[in-house]
Amino acid sequence: MSNPRTTMAAPVHVVDPPVSPEPGSGCDVCGALARERKEAAGVGNWSTVADCNVELRRHHGEHT
Ligand SMILES: [Zn+2]
Repeated sequence: MSNPRTTMAAPVHVVDPPVSPEPGSGCDVCGALARERKEAAGVGNWSTVADCNVELRRHHGEHT
């Protein structure tokens, strides 16, 4: 029995909040990811929503 959710080696965080990452204001990359996530959520494409959240969190690391 393998759970595909556990196959992704996620970075270790103190806590992985269930809330979605907030896009940075005035950031085009954040805006695009947030828009894609919203559209995916609208059609129930939760795997894409999760991908966008991962990308947003990773991208947030590039913010200064
Ligand atoms: Zn950004």
